[in-house]
Amino acid sequence: MSGINAVTTNAPKGGVRYERVTVREDGPVGLSPIYTGICGTDRGMVLGHLDFSYNPDKQDFIVMGHESICRVTSADSKTGFREGDIVVPVVRRPGGCINCRTGRQDNCSDGKKHEAGITGMNGFMRESFTDSPEFLVKVKDPALARVGILTEPLKNVVKVFEVFETVSRRSIYFSEDSTYEGKNAYVIGTGAEGFLFSMMASEYGFNTSILNRHPIDENRLKICDAFGMDFVDSSKGIPDENVDLLIDTSGDPATLLNFIRRMNYNSIAVMFGTNGKAPPADFTGKDIDHIVERNISLVGSVDAAKVHYSRALSYLSRWNSMNAGALSSMITDEKKPSDVSVFTERNPESIKIALDWS
Ligand SMILES: [Zn+2]
Repeated sequence: MSGINAVTTNAPKGGVRYERVTVREDGPVGLSPIYTGICGTDRGMVLGHLDFSYNPDKQDFIVMGHESICRVTSADSKTGFREGDIVVPVVRRPGGCINCRTGRQDNCSDGKKHEAGITGMNGFMRESFTDSPEFLVKVKDPALARVGILTEPLKNVVKVFEVFETVSRRSIYFSEDSTYEGKNAYVIGTGAEGFLFSMMASEYGFNTSILNRHPIDENRLKICDAFGMDFVDSSKGIPDENVDLLIDTSGDPATLLNFIRRMNYNSIAVMFGTNGKAPPADFTGKDIDHIVERNISLVGSVDAAKVHYSRALSYLSRWNSMNAGALSSMITDEKKPSDVSVFTERNPESIKIALDWS
């Protein structure tokens, strides 16, 4: 039989199949995934909840997968890659706008970019594919062959902190000792992104709390300990303190609003999580007063650029050498690509599910 095995869906309708497909290939670097990761976006596509997802031209399916770590299987020396190199492919591919033309398709200004496995471009959940060298980020630390699957979600975090640094410059934001110590960062959500945001806030020196509306399991508590974060079960109340940096991974308006009401002078709230199905919340004139009178910045941030992938890999190397066990325990499940039930069944103790292609 011709073709290769791949995990596919029919966007935006949904469904999921592990099947043999034949798709057009045109890059000079041959790749095969070691692991691909599953996130909420993949689940949303399978459930048919992601209206903005679409199949590539002339295909009635899309190969899924935007989180991956791959091995180079063939490359000529002009590409700068060699057989055996480990790489992470960039998810977003540029359209023609000014941001796309300067390598910042994460800030695309006309929506004409594509995203592997999401919008109009086949993703990485397939036995092999080819790509162009400019969209590959080399993984230099061989210890990252497994936890490197976190590069893609972490690159979003790196960008958010760049946005935070840009926005925070509008006033003196540092503490009097020139650090972020004594400042409170709250991260809403205890999924993989929530943990990676918390690790970074902790890295920056914030008093970091990670929050959810229910208790969390032992593995998650251990990760909090290892990286110096406090877990807060917000159903039992929130500490009586001001929030200087709020990062939301839930996309739930009521949750977000609840914390915006606790935000400090000159504080920053970054919205990262999306959930188009979330119920509306009661945003009032008093909330606007609070935001205006305290100079609060509300910012949205999506995706990240190639530079953020590289920086994410540096952080992963450092965190992996500091806390190898804890970082690795973020990857709670390894499954076979043919086991497509992982897209629809949910184990609350799972953080990052990796499909093992080796
Ligand atoms: Zn663009």
